[in-house]
Amino acid sequence: MFERQVNIKSPADLKIMRAAGRINATVLARVKELLQPGVTTADLNAAAEEVLKSHGCVSPFKGYGHPPFPASITVSINDEMVHGIPHPKRKLKDGDIVSIDCGTVFEGFVADSAFSAGVGEISPEAANLLKVTEEALYAGIAQMRKGRRTGDVSVAIQNHVESHGLHVTREYTGHGVGRSMHEGPQVPNYGMAGNGTLLRAGMTIALEPMVLIGTHETRVLPDQWTVVSADGTLTAHFEHTVAVTEGDPLLLTVL
Ligand code: MG
Ligand code: MG
Repeated sequence: MFERQVNIKSPADLKIMRAAGRINATVLARVKELLQPGVTTADLNAAAEEVLKSHGCVSPFKGYGHPPFPASITVSINDEMVHGIPHPKRKLKDGDIVSIDCGTVFEGFVADSAFSAGVGEISPEAANLLKVTEEALYAGIAQMRKGRRTGDVSVAIQNHVESHGLHVTREYTGHGVGRSMHEGPQVPNYGMAGNGTLLRAGMTIALEPMVLIGTHETRVLPDQWTVVSADGTLTAHFEHTVAVTEGDPLLLTVL
């Protein structure tokens, strides 16, 4: 597997990344306030861009990849797991679950974070999916300690999800993040304890459990971006950028 370089951040770098993460959290908090039936996914993107602009920031998502991603956030509804493209005709409906992913570039560093939430009244099955996915993120974060390995993080996420009868994605992974949105190491949402890259203080990693109800299989829609569950069942996604320190893990993408 192709592995990108791992870049250790200095305390000064981490200060900038924390500021980037705070702005990113502000963007996501604003979008969360707007999650109501009738709101379009393009409205959510516009609100995110307004907050980014007010901080003099841009999202690294815009123009990323091939074909270039056309928006600053991704909005993925129900069976859409990640990379949904905002659209002025796509409206949120009561009972939807929606995943919002946003990045922020601030002073040359990237923060990357995502959450999933319900719109109006959601089913107990959907609520459980959201709860387990968010818990899996925190189970992974708890392993983000100097001396552990990426496999310890991966397996903590996987075990939490699978102990609830749900499935982790295989094709999409957590990743180092810093001056670029994707650095090493890769952190899959499944793995083996004691395997993978040794965690060192100054590593900054975006952990991002993507969880599916039916099976782990996904496919990409003809728009070449939107990833959906192969069987059409619900999916969820939570993500934080986290720094490994000499002590406790440091969450960078919180307010
Ligand atoms: Mg992300
Ligand atoms: Mg990410």
